[in-house]
Amino acid sequence: MPISTGTSSQSLFEKARQLIPGGVNSPVRAFRSVGGTPFFTESADGPFLHTVDGQKLIDFVCTWGPAIHGHNHPEIRAALRGALENGTSFGTPATGEVEMAERITRTVPSVEKVRLVNSGTEATMSAVRLARGYTGRDKIIKFSGCYHGHVDSLLVSAGSGALTHGSPDSAGIPESFARETIVVPFNDPAALREAFTANPERIAGVILEPYPANVGLILPEPDFLETLRRLCDEHGSLLIFDEVMTGFRISQGGVQEAEKVRPDLTAMGKIIGGGLPVGAFGGKADIMDHLAPEGPVYQAGTLSGNPLAMAAGNTSLSLLEQSPPYSDLERKGKKLREAVLEAASDKGIPLQLPQAGSMFSFYFTENPVRNFQQATSADRDPFKKIFHYALDHGVYLPPSPFETCFISTAHDESILAQACEVLCEAIRSL
Ligand SMILES: *Cc1c(COP(=O)(O)O)cnc(C)c1O
Repeated sequence: MPISTGTSSQSLFEKARQLIPGGVNSPVRAFRSVGGTPFFTESADGPFLHTVDGQKLIDFVCTWGPAIHGHNHPEIRAALRGALENGTSFGTPATGEVEMAERITRTVPSVEKVRLVNSGTEATMSAVRLARGYTGRDKIIKFSGCYHGHVDSLLVSAGSGALTHGSPDSAGIPESFARETIVVPFNDPAALREAFTANPERIAGVILEPYPANVGLILPEPDFLETLRRLCDEHGSLLIFDEVMTGFRISQGGVQEAEKVRPDLTAMGKIIGGGLPVGAFGGKADIMDHLAPEGPVYQAGTLSGNPLAMAAGNTSLSLLEQSPPYSDLERKGKKLREAVLEAASDKGIPLQLPQAGSMFSFYFTENPVRNFQQATSADRDPFKKIFHYALDHGVYLPPSPFETCFISTAHDESILAQACEVLCEAIRSL
C-alpha cells in the first residue's frame, strides 16, 4: 500500500499506528517514557541517522547495540553485496556458519561449541531449555532488572522495555511458568545463597547480564560474579551469561574475558550479526552436545545461519579482530562521562553516569546504583528533559531513562566533542 498521508515522521506515525500496534515493531522504539512522536529514519551512515524530516542526528542508540562500527559500514555493505550474488537462503549447511562458529569459539573464552539462531531472544530461550535438559531440573534464577529478550519464563522483573510500560510482568504468561523463575536482586550474594538453599537440587541454572544494561547500566560489585560462579558449582547449576549486549562490546570476549569468570553457557546477539538478525548460544562441548540432532534437547530454525546474516556478522567480527577498538572506546567513554559529570556538578545536579567502555547511562540520583530498586527510584524527569533538549540539538539518546547509550568506532573525536557539548548544555538547561 503506498503511503498516502505524507512522509513526515508525524504523518507516517499516524499511519503506522493504524496498522501496527502502537505504531512500532518493538515497544522500546515508541517515545512513551519521554513523550512525543518517534521519528522515522530514512538512512544511516557512520555515527548519523538521517530522518525523513531532513534532520541529521548523532546517534547514541546504535540500533540498540549492534552498530559498534557505526551505521552502514562500507566493508559490511560490500560483504552483503557479495553474498547476495550467491542467493539469500540455502536450507543446507554453508561455509559462513562454520566461519562464524570458528570466530566465536576462538574469541569467547568459555565457548567450545556454538549454535546459531536469529535473535537474542532465541539465544537465551534455547540456553535456558538446554540448561534444564542438561541438568534435569526446572527452576531458573534470574536477577531483577536483567532483560533476556521476551522469553516467557524470563519476562519477570525484566527491565527497560517492560519497565517503561509499567508492567514488569507481561500479560499472557501463565503463573505456572513464572513460578519456575526465581528473581533475586543483583549484587546481593546473600539473597542468591538463600534462593539456592530454599530450592535444593532444583536450580537448573542462573541467568544474568553480567553487566546489566537494560535498566540503565549497572556494574557488578567486586567478587559478585566469582561468588555466583562458586555457588553454581556448589549446587550443580549452570551459570548462563547473557552477553547479547556485552559480547564483543566490552571486549572481544565480552564480560567473561574482562572479568575472568567463565560461565557454562553464553547467549550472544547484536554485534555478531553486523546489523542483520543473528543470535547464538554456546558453551562447553559436553553441554552443547545435548542439543538435537546430537542429544535430546530440541532447537531449530529455518533461517538460522542465513548466508546474508553470516556475511554481515563475519565482517563485523573480523573488523574487531583486525583492529580491536576497545581501549579507544574506553577512553572516549570516560572522557564523555567526565565532561557530563562536571557539568552536572557545576549545576549541583545529582547525577550518576555509570560507564564501561562504549556503554553509559544516566541516573539522576545522589548515590551509585547497584540494583534494579535503586535504578528505578532515580528521578526520571530530568532524563526526559535532556532527551528532548539533545534531540532538538541533533543528538539522539535512547528514548527511555532505562536504556544504555552506545558509542561506535564511527564516533570520532570531533563528533563526540560536539555531542558532548550538547549533553552538557542539556544538563545546564535543567
Ligand atoms: C537485546 C537483548 C536481548 C534480546 O535480543 P533480541 O535480538 O532483541 O531478541 C537479550 N538479552 C540482552 C541482554 C539484550 O540486551
